[in-house]
Amino acid sequence: MSKFKTIDDLNVAGKRVLLRADLNVPMQDGKPSDTTRIDRTVQTIKDLTARGAKVIILSHFGRPKGQVVAEMTLKPIAVAMASALGRDVAFATDTIGDSAKAVVGAMNDGDVAMLENVRFHAEETDNDDGFATTLASLGDFFVNDAFSTAHRAHASTEALARKLPAAAGRLMQAELEALGAALGTPVKPVAAVVGGAKVSTKMEVLGNLSKKVDMIIIGGGMANTFLFAQGHDVGKSLCEKDMADEALAIIASAAANGCEIVLPVDVVVSAEFAANAANQAVDIDAIPADKMALDIGPKTIADVENRLAGCKTLVWNGPFGAFEIAPFDKGTNAAAQAAARLTKAGTLTSVAGGGDTVAALVQAGAADDFSYISTAGGAFLEWIEGKTLPGVAALENNA
Ligand code: ADP
Ligand code: MG
Repeated sequence: MSKFKTIDDLNVAGKRVLLRADLNVPMQDGKPSDTTRIDRTVQTIKDLTARGAKVIILSHFGRPKGQVVAEMTLKPIAVAMASALGRDVAFATDTIGDSAKAVVGAMNDGDVAMLENVRFHAEETDNDDGFATTLASLGDFFVNDAFSTAHRAHASTEALARKLPAAAGRLMQAELEALGAALGTPVKPVAAVVGGAKVSTKMEVLGNLSKKVDMIIIGGGMANTFLFAQGHDVGKSLCEKDMADEALAIIASAAANGCEIVLPVDVVVSAEFAANAANQAVDIDAIPADKMALDIGPKTIADVENRLAGCKTLVWNGPFGAFEIAPFDKGTNAAAQAAARLTKAGTLTSVAGGGDTVAALVQAGAADDFSYISTAGGAFLEWIEGKTLPGVAALENNA
């Protein structure tokens, strides 16, 4: 299927390979709290170093907006990468310039180094050609493993692929092959679950998704925004009120495309966002003005379970509630476990993506039974929409 080169096509012995990874992992107390993205890029690094390449890792972390932000350094991630690889990883305190040149210049064949956060330079998100040329001067080949950032045309994901012979890393290759196999021609009915907190960034996706799937099940802060748009009082819930018109437009266009929009019929509300805070389930027309909807309620859980049982394919991005704090993880856990059961029973193909979504499915004990778990959230949704991902297109053009 692939129209791009893979690392098997590059003769990397003794060469410098710039590897773009997405190491934007969740951090707690200065350490990665989930190392999935680190672990899943290890194979590419091992394959390259085993063949005598010098591997120079590029990544972003957070949104420093072109400034050096101390808390967004990749240094602790280089430490975590070293332990994942079981070997030293040299670290350059800048992405370009003297420190990067010195670190790369000191590498022996088979060594691994990491350069500081590419987004400390504004030129990165500008997809600046000159910045890409400067990055390219540090390598002989470009390998892209950052499927989860492939929906962004940035200097280290797009322009750089035009400067050097380029190929997909093992993770990029695996993501595209797995998504193609599971969702290339999905068996109907197809349900999409879209939840979580990034309401405005996911709104556009919903419009396009409604042309591709039979049903969109909406949860989380996204659902609150739709309920508000339909005239329900959502109290103090996470809700993007200025997205109300957009939400109504999505409901209308979904109806025109024969796609059903499924919203909660009840929610679990609480006055505070805290573990085991006092809470109650209420119907959506009875959300108290001083409370927040933090999860879907029992009637909605039953409805979601029923609907999943009637579907053949599920794509999922975004939790149903504030799953990090009990008991507001109930809806997400129930839906995740239902999807896992159906997948195991062979009636459902289930694919999920998104940083928090994956963490939620792991927490629910459901991740291992899903058909495929992507490391990507936004890129995963855009791939499902059928959009061209600039990072992937650049690899294809380079081939
Ligand atoms: P992903 O990383 O999988 O793309 P998002 O980042 O969009 O997902 O959303 C995840 C976040 O949404 C979680 O931190 C979760 O606590 C939050 N969330 C979900 N539902 C609610 C809700 N009803 N109220 C507040 N936060 C919510
Ligand atoms: Mg998230």
